[in-house]
Amino acid sequence: MANYPKVQLHIDGEWRDARSGKVIEVINPATEEVIGTVAHAGKVDLDEALEAAERGFAIWRKTSVFERYKLMRRAADILRSRADAIAAMMTAEQGKPLPEAKMETLAGADIIEWMAEEGRRAYGRVIPARAEGIYQLVLREPVGPVAAFTPWNFPINQVVRKLSAALATGNSIIVKAPEETPASPAELIRAFVDAGIPKGVIGLVYGVPAEISSYLIPHPTIRKITFTGSTPVGKMLAGLAGQHMKRATMELGGHAPAIVFDDADIQKAAKTLAVSKFRNAGQVCVSPTRFLVQERSFDEFLDTFTSYAKSLKVGNGMDEGVAMGPLANDRRVPTIETLVQDAVQRGAKLQAGGNRIGNKGYFYEPTVISDLPLDARAMNEEPFGPLALVNRFSDFDEVVQESNRLPFGLAAYAFTGSATTAQRIAASVETGMMTINHLGLALPEVPFGGVKDSGYGSEGGSEALEPYLVTKFVTQAGL
Ligand code: NAD
Repeated sequence: MANYPKVQLHIDGEWRDARSGKVIEVINPATEEVIGTVAHAGKVDLDEALEAAERGFAIWRKTSVFERYKLMRRAADILRSRADAIAAMMTAEQGKPLPEAKMETLAGADIIEWMAEEGRRAYGRVIPARAEGIYQLVLREPVGPVAAFTPWNFPINQVVRKLSAALATGNSIIVKAPEETPASPAELIRAFVDAGIPKGVIGLVYGVPAEISSYLIPHPTIRKITFTGSTPVGKMLAGLAGQHMKRATMELGGHAPAIVFDDADIQKAAKTLAVSKFRNAGQVCVSPTRFLVQERSFDEFLDTFTSYAKSLKVGNGMDEGVAMGPLANDRRVPTIETLVQDAVQRGAKLQAGGNRIGNKGYFYEPTVISDLPLDARAMNEEPFGPLALVNRFSDFDEVVQESNRLPFGLAAYAFTGSATTAQRIAASVETGMMTINHLGLALPEVPFGGVKDSGYGSEGGSEALEPYLVTKFVTQAGL
C-alpha cells in the first residue's frame, strides 16, 4: 500500500522511533505482503512514557472538565474529517472491508463525543449531615495514569472506548495498541494530538505485549489497567493487577448464544444473524456463535442462513462489493481449520464452507456447521472466526441450559414473536448484553461488558466512566 505510514511511538508529546531503533513488520492479511513497520518499544521507552504520564496527569486532572470536553470534541471532528484515509490504512492492516473500516472510524468519533459529554456529568454528591453546619461531600476524582491493552480486531474501537473514558474523567493513559494493526489506532491518537492534548496525557507504545504488560501493570505510576482480549490472557493480567492492588477492567472472550424460537420471524432472524455472524470475518467478541434453533424452524433457518453464507463475496477488503475480508493474522487460519475438522470428525454436518481460500492471504470460507455434539471443541472454545454452529432445541428450559453451559457471558441474541418469551429469556440467560429481535449492541450510550469468564466492567454508557474515577469523602464543619 503506497500510503501506509511508518508507525511510531508517541511519548511525551513526540512522535518518535524506539530508542533502540527496533521495528516490527506489518503484514497485509489479504496479500501477505509487508506493508510497513511499527516501532518496537523497549524498557527505556516505557520508562519515558511512564514519566510523561505522571506529568500529563498532573496537568490534565487540573484542566477543567469543560476544557477537556471541548478538546475531545475537536479530536472527534478531526477523526471524522480523516475517516477515508484512516479506513484505507485499517483495511490494509486488518483486512476488513473498507466500508466497515470507515464505519468503525466514524463510530470512534461518536464514542469520543459521548464520553466527553458524559464526563461533564460525572458529579459527586452532598449527603445531609446529622448536625447543623456540617457538609458531607462525596467527590469523584480521576484514578490516575491508566495502562490500556487493546487487540487487533477493532483497531480503533477497542482503543477509543478506553482512551476517551480515561480522558473525559481527567486521567492520563498509556495505550499498548496492537502490533498487527498499528496505523489506524495511531491515527486516532494523532487526532487528539492535533486537537491540542497536552504533552504526556496520551502515550502510545507497541512491542512484545507480555513484556509491556508485565512492566507497566506493577509499576507504581500506573493506577488502573484495562484489557480487551482472550480470557486466558485476561485472567493472567487481572491476577497481576490484583497482586499490585490495581483496578482492572476486563473485556474478554465470548461464545454468544443466538436463540431462535418457533414463534419468531424465521427469515428475519436468519438474515439478521447471518449478517452479524460474518461481519469482520467473525472476529468479534460479541459475534453470535451458537445458533440454537427450535425444532420446527430448524430446517428453514439453516437453509436461509446457509444460502447467505454461500452467497457472500469474500476478498480483499479494498475491492468493491466484498462482504468479508481475510482473517486478520496467520494464527487464525489453522485455529479455525482445527475446529472445523474436529467438529466433522465428531459427527457434525458441514453445511457450507470449511476450507481455506487460495494460497495467498488468510482467507477462509464463511462456514456453517450443524448438529454438533456438545463435546466438539468449537462448542466450547471461542471460534473467533467465520464459523456458525447451528443446533436444535425443543423447549425453553433446554435452551436456557445450553446458553448458560459455558463459562462465558458476554453477548446473547434471541428472536421470538412473544413478549412473554422475550422477557423470560432476557431474565434467564447469564450474559452482560442481550439483544432481542434486532441487533442493538455496542452503541456509545449503552453498557458494553460481560459477566463470568467474559470479564468485568463496562465500556459503554454512563457506566464506562465509573472505573476511571475514585471516590473521596470529605466532611467539613464550620470554624
Ligand atoms: P492472544 O490471546 O495471544 O491475544 C489476544 C490479545 O491480547 C492480543 O491483542 C495480544 O496482543 C494481547 N496479549 C496477549 N498476551 C498478552 C500479554 N501477556 N499482555 C498484554 N497483552 C497480551 O490471542 P490472539 O491470537 O491475538 O487472538 C486469539 C484470541 O484472542 C481469540 O480467539 C479471542 O478469543 C481473543 N480475542 C478477543 C478479542 C475481543 O474483542 N475480546 C479481540 C482479539 C482477540
